[in-house]
Amino acid sequence: METITLQQENLWAPWRTKYIQGLSKPGGCFICDYLQNSGADEENLVLWRTEKSVVVLNRFPYNNGHLLIAPIRHIPDLAAADEAELFEMTKLIRETQKALSLSIKPHGFNIGMNFGRCAGAGLPEHMHVHVVPRWDGDTNFMSVCSETKVISQSLTELYRLLKEVSKKNNLPNL
Ligand SMILES: [Zn+2]
Repeated sequence: METITLQQENLWAPWRTKYIQGLSKPGGCFICDYLQNSGADEENLVLWRTEKSVVVLNRFPYNNGHLLIAPIRHIPDLAAADEAELFEMTKLIRETQKALSLSIKPHGFNIGMNFGRCAGAGLPEHMHVHVVPRWDGDTNFMSVCSETKVISQSLTELYRLLKEVSKKNNLPNL
């Protein structure tokens, strides 16, 4: 099971096992699949498409509002990214924090990247930045709310809320 160490405690996310298993299909890249299928953005929880990047809700989140920022290009790491991609992804960290703060008012954020499977990357071939909202006491909450069905219902609602907030506040403002 994949875990992420946050402060001194682990967020417990058993539904992620399904995600990891799904990713083991050879040659599969869900980010590239989503990018090529623009008609299914709501279904795929693709929040924003920008010139160089894409922002999606993580279908198997560590916490409510867990977003992924990825370059459009299928590249594995920062060394392969160009200046414009690096700059846009950094600005998107700022913009996703704005959108999440307006929508679900987190108390804090974990923002980070995993490179290589040994470091916990579920999709090592296509780099992405994790934006994980945090609330006081959330490590206790998530272990109670572990039903995948409950999570996916709330994902659709959250997607619509983030879309509405983005429109109202002209986000992302790059
Ligand atoms: Zn890809």
